[in-house]
Amino acid sequence: MPTSITMQMAPIKSCNATDCSYNKSGNECHAMAITVGGPSPDCDTFMRGPNKGGVEQTGAVGACKVDNCKYNRNLECSAGGVDVVASRNHALCHTFSAK
Ligand code: SF4
Ligand code: SF4
Repeated sequence: MPTSITMQMAPIKSCNATDCSYNKSGNECHAMAITVGGPSPDCDTFMRGPNKGGVEQTGAVGACKVDNCKYNRNLECSAGGVDVVASRNHALCHTFSAK
């Protein structure tokens, strides 16, 4: 059963994955919320396509499955913000820090 906690979603401070459909201005994520997947800290929401999508505000981490990150708390991100960087055919949470 999930632990009862109150947390703010960690904002995405920057993302340079310009080929992602949710990237705007080359450095901003406009997905409403991303999922960061385990075991490696990939942005699972990364998507290449002909159309751009997303919302007006910049995105945040909705869920994170990387439980060996020191910022991971009950499979959510407790960092004050994250930076995401492009890496070949995917994008990685650069704020990841091993426990
Ligand atoms: S790779 Fe992830 S963090 Fe970057 S713009 Fe796409 S959805 Fe947002
Ligand atoms: S900082 Fe850690 S807990 Fe937060 S999204 Fe990145 S990998 Fe997940």
